[in-house]
Amino acid sequence: MNKIAVCPGSFDPITYGHLDIIQRGAKVFDEVYVVVLNNSSKKPVFTVDERMDLIRDVTKHIPNVKVDSFQGLLVDYAASIKADAIIRGLRAVSDFEYEMQITSMNRRLNDHIETFFIMTNNQFSFLSSSIVKEVAKYGGDISELVPKPVQEALHQKFKG
Ligand code: ADP
Repeated sequence: MNKIAVCPGSFDPITYGHLDIIQRGAKVFDEVYVVVLNNSSKKPVFTVDERMDLIRDVTKHIPNVKVDSFQGLLVDYAASIKADAIIRGLRAVSDFEYEMQITSMNRRLNDHIETFFIMTNNQFSFLSSSIVKEVAKYGGDISELVPKPVQEALHQKFKG
């Protein structure tokens, strides 16, 4: 039976850290849905469609990755695509408390979907979309932090 995982996030924008998690997840699961959380409480730089297009572009070499977006409860989305698991990335100890909170709530809402944590490659431990945006805004070098299409998209957003 096909094992399906959901890899949710804001992805505003996708970084090499996210890509590392997606790649690792795609080795273990038959299908990985990378889904952009359409969460109105954050003020994103990229629209949901722009974020999805960037994810599609930088994951096109991974055949078992699908890209989607959702609004609402993650467990409802996961159930709708018959997912077995939720994948989250862990960078440092600081991620733990937040992730444990979400995981225990998701388990309470739907006990059939397991959350799997994947530890990122050390080189991406301090990488986040927010840091990338901050550096890009002031014209710093982000070539080792995000793939080329993301670099170009950020450049377009912040130029002028
Ligand atoms: P969210 O707003 O849901 O935290 P993000 O886009 O910031 O969305 O992150 C999505 C997922 O990717 C989370 O599980 C997060 O821990 C993980 N992640 C983000 N950056 C990295 C990174 N550098 N290395 C590993 N995992 C990461």
